Amino acid sequence: MLIDVHAHLDFPQFDSDREQIIEKARKGGILVINSGMGPDGIEKTISLVKRYDNIFATLGLSPQEFEKEIIDETVELIRRYRNDILGIGEVGLDYYWIKDPHERRKELENFNRFIELSRELELPLVIHSRDAEEDVINRLKEENLPVILHSFSGNPEQAEDAISLGCLISIPASVVYSKKKQKLVEDLPLESIVLETDAPYLSPKPRTRNEPVNIKLTRDKIAKIKGIDKAIVEESTTENAKRFFDLKL
Ligand SMILES: [Zn+2]
Repeated sequence: MLIDVHAHLDFPQFDSDREQIIEKARKGGILVINSGMGPDGIEKTISLVKRYDNIFATLGLSPQEFEKEIIDETVELIRRYRNDILGIGEVGLDYYWIKDPHERRKELENFNRFIELSRELELPLVIHSRDAEEDVINRLKEENLPVILHSFSGNPEQAEDAISLGCLISIPASVVYSKKKQKLVEDLPLESIVLETDAPYLSPKPRTRNEPVNIKLTRDKIAKIKGIDKAIVEESTTENAKRFFDLKL
C-alpha cells in the first residue's frame, strides 16, 4: 500500500472523471489524503471522505486568502469536522505569489491562527511553504508540532534544519525530472520522507494533469536515487505517513 499524503481530487480538473480516478487509485493500492481548502473545498472533501473508503482528509486554506469571513468560516468548519479528518492543511506561507510586505504579514497572521488551531484540536499540520522556508522553519522552532512540509523548495541547510525539528518532507512526482527535488531526496534520510502528488499539479510530465497513481513513479525514482529496493521505499513512506497521521487501518 502507498499513501499519497497530499492531493486535491475535489478540484474542478477532476469533475469529469473523479470516480474513475479514485477507483484507479484504489486498484493500485493507494490511499489518498485529500487537502480541502476553504469552505467550498472543505465541504467537497468531506463528501469524498464519506463516500470512498480510500479517501481521507486534511483541511486548510490557501495562504493567499485574505478575506476575514472566509478565514473565520474555514476555522469553524475545521472545528466542526474535527473527528472526520487526519490533520490541518494545507496552510502556510507563499512568498512566490505574495510579494507585498503587508500581505506577507497577513499571511503570517493567518498561519499563526492555524498553528494555534492545530494545538487546540491536537491535529498535525501539513504546511505549504513556497520560497518562504526560512520564515516557516523559524516559526516552527518556537513550536513542538508534528509537521509535514509540502511543496518544500528550500536549500539543503533548510532541509537539514527541518528534519532536525522532526518535520517530514513530502516528495512530489515532479522528482522524476526535477534536479532540485532529486538532490533533496539524495540528502534526506528515508525516515523523513513521505509521498505526495499534489494532484492535479506537479505532474511527472509537465503541463499534464497529475493523479494519485503517479505516486508509484515517485516511489520508483526515490528507490533509484537511493539505490534501494522500491518495496523498502513503499514500506517506509507508508509507515511514516501512518505514524504521522495516527492512521489505523
Ligand atoms: Zn496542494
